[in-house]
Amino acid sequence: MTKILGIDEDSLSVCKTIIEDGGVVAFPTETVYGLGANAFDTAAVNRIFEIKGRPNDNPLIVHVHKDYDITALVEEIPYYATVLAEKFLPGPLTMVYKSKGIVSKAVSCGLATLAIRVPSHVGAQKFLKYLNLPIAAPSANISKHVSPTSAEHVFDDLNGKIDIILDGGKCAGGIESTVLDCTGDMPVILRSGLITENMIKDAVGECGTFVYDGHGEVRSPGMKYKHYSPRCNTMLFDSDELGQALSTYDEEDKKGVAVYLLLGGEHVLKAGGRRVLNLGKTAEDMAGNLYDVLRAGEKCAQLIIAVTPENRGGIMEGVINRLSKACRSV
Ligand code: AMP
Ligand code: MG
Repeated sequence: MTKILGIDEDSLSVCKTIIEDGGVVAFPTETVYGLGANAFDTAAVNRIFEIKGRPNDNPLIVHVHKDYDITALVEEIPYYATVLAEKFLPGPLTMVYKSKGIVSKAVSCGLATLAIRVPSHVGAQKFLKYLNLPIAAPSANISKHVSPTSAEHVFDDLNGKIDIILDGGKCAGGIESTVLDCTGDMPVILRSGLITENMIKDAVGECGTFVYDGHGEVRSPGMKYKHYSPRCNTMLFDSDELGQALSTYDEEDKKGVAVYLLLGGEHVLKAGGRRVLNLGKTAEDMAGNLYDVLRAGEKCAQLIIAVTPENRGGIMEGVINRLSKACRSV
């Protein structure tokens, strides 16, 4: 049975022993919960892939505390990256650099680069500082399932598979960090998140976005997989197809299917008496609620009919990216 523990001297000392012995523990961050292991220990890193059932070509992010000297792990840190780190770290921004090859090769799945993140969550900082090790950590869920934003979510997925979940409450951010490639002349977003393209442009003048079209080179391998998915059937409609979504709901409802609408913003007001999983009003609400709502939905719905919210831009990029992956079939 997995234990859920508050973050204090006692629980941190237990975690330190587990991690130093090659085990894994779950810990909170401001985005989602992570499943962490010592990044220097190949067997421990492989355990993460095993526990999650994660494809072995999907690299992990290394988490460090705010005073950790990352030049021990990576090289060629461009000036723009220093500016971005100064402005946004600790925070929900993962930066990809050329690796010095010092952490286990299993972390980056053979890539020459290493993704590094400095989370701002107070509990995450305590955990990382106490261990004073680079901690490789993907989200603490079974691969392809909805990411966890509370200790209970982690427990639901990993009970019996790990010893300890450190409980730091509900994650405030709610969607994963922005992943930024910092190996070129300008930063390039590989995965959208809470630090947006405009925030990066405002800080350093330019920022590209890598769009994976399903073919050719994948610069962030995680982007090619079905992801974040609830364990029930799903359908996704565009924001201007609300009418179609409502009539599909009515047809399914008549057949006796336990169908729920997943809506955000103004759409919620137009649902009539239908059952609704409500993402909330603002972009921040929707990011914060998305995974919780998808996990609540899979417990009661046979079919979730999601409609892309009308809100666009900024962190909605990340929300819509996760929502469309959660509701696709492959
Ligand atoms: P997760 O921690 O499960 O949210 O997934 C980590 C994300 O970071 C995935 O989308 C990975 O593809 C991406 N990532 C991790 N390391 C690298 C790297 N070295 N280069 C590019 N993307 C990376
Ligand atoms: Mg994940």
